[in-house]
Amino acid sequence: MARSELDPSRADITAMMTAATSFVSDFLDGLPDAPASGETTVPARLHAPPTEGPGSFDALLATVADAASRAVETAGGDYFAYFPAGGLFASAVAELLAQTVNRFTAVGDMAPGLVALEQSVLRWLCAEFGLPSGAGGLLTSGASTATLSALLAARQRALGPRGDADTAWSDRLRVYVTEHTHHCVAKAARIAGLPAGAVRTVPTNGEHRMDPDAAREAVRRDRASGHHPLLLVGTAGATSTGTVDPLPDLADLTRDENLWFHVDAAYGGGFQLTARGRRTLRGVERADSITLDPHKSLFLQYGTGVLLVRNPATLHAAHAADADYLQDLDHDDDLPDFADLGVELTREFRGLRLWLPLHLHGVGAFRAALDEKLDLAARAERHLREFAEVPLRPDLTVLTFRVPGGDETNRRLLEWLNATRRVFLSSTRVDGRYTPRLCVLSHRTRAEHVDRALGLIREGAETRPW
Ligand SMILES: *Cc1c(COP(=O)(O)O)cnc(C)c1O
Repeated sequence: MARSELDPSRADITAMMTAATSFVSDFLDGLPDAPASGETTVPARLHAPPTEGPGSFDALLATVADAASRAVETAGGDYFAYFPAGGLFASAVAELLAQTVNRFTAVGDMAPGLVALEQSVLRWLCAEFGLPSGAGGLLTSGASTATLSALLAARQRALGPRGDADTAWSDRLRVYVTEHTHHCVAKAARIAGLPAGAVRTVPTNGEHRMDPDAAREAVRRDRASGHHPLLLVGTAGATSTGTVDPLPDLADLTRDENLWFHVDAAYGGGFQLTARGRRTLRGVERADSITLDPHKSLFLQYGTGVLLVRNPATLHAAHAADADYLQDLDHDDDLPDFADLGVELTREFRGLRLWLPLHLHGVGAFRAALDEKLDLAARAERHLREFAEVPLRPDLTVLTFRVPGGDETNRRLLEWLNATRRVFLSSTRVDGRYTPRLCVLSHRTRAEHVDRALGLIREGAETRPW
């Protein structure tokens, strides 16, 4: 039978893969010496619409290379801003395989083999987090969509046999966060239709971690005034400061007050694979739901998040829907129908992105790489303290610091650092003050990158070359 016109011949596939292999190898070979940020102007040719006739693959690859170079080098070892991850080559290969076979993994019985691979990774993660054997979850686009699903599950559980939420009840729901909780929680509350005042900001202690007594007090006050405390978010690695909330105390509180305990480990979750990280995240095993972003602390490509839940039936209750056109689908009891657990029906098959590198490199390689990041962060902290203030004890690998001088000096320092194109950092505010921030997280960041960054920071602080 004839091939689709859109399927290349074996010879064409070989030619494309050979060229793509060169592209990938050249990119990875060039990374150690690549500038930390590139040209940011975008020439008109990159806005050109597709042509009516065929193009040349080599010419198109050159366009891709050009477009990709106009960026902050988020894949390189000199990237310390926000949350570096790097991206794993094995995941990129997994993606090629997954997208070539293009299976429909929204329901278990359409592609049970691949759904089983995805489920095996989720079960392994549940075990690493100390969740009970019935726990489960799904892979999502990131922590934002995972958080939305956790919130919907919490609301459904609180509704119980009442069925649908009535406005009077919904309008009195309350969610507890701190000023350092990621904004995806407020966004999820808005999307879920919770009222404007639903998200309550609980005070932190002197170290910017949620104050459990203040949280308990807020919950009790709300309940006494007729509100319905629903969910509390403990953050395991805050975006701004990297700090971890006192999870065991928050777990006690949510148990006593019958709240859903959500742990946002979007950044910190990967460190659960290390002995030090497990100590820091102690209490996470008591969560009702956990988000983690493999595109942060498991070094994966952007667009890979995880939601784990203690009781998957709660997710199912919040998301399952049926329709006449789905009537032919069997429901395999051993395999999940991911469509019933999250917001997507048709979904990317993200499972192989995790499965392949974990099996190929072995889990030990991930534990070792994460341990190295913890060591490098400790090394960076020691060096920074020689000439800068480190306002918060780092729990994981985010360091905040201020060099002598006020906000303006620190803002200029960051601008100068990034303008050198040898490092890339970002900033936040701590206690209302402008604070540069350095996050060690890329698998490609080694001691020499950290030392070079610290050398530049010190040079900037001491010579003020702006
Ligand atoms: C990054 C981050 C998020 C949001 O995750 P996305 O994957 O970007 O949606 C949520 N919480 C924390 C703590 C984060 O660091």
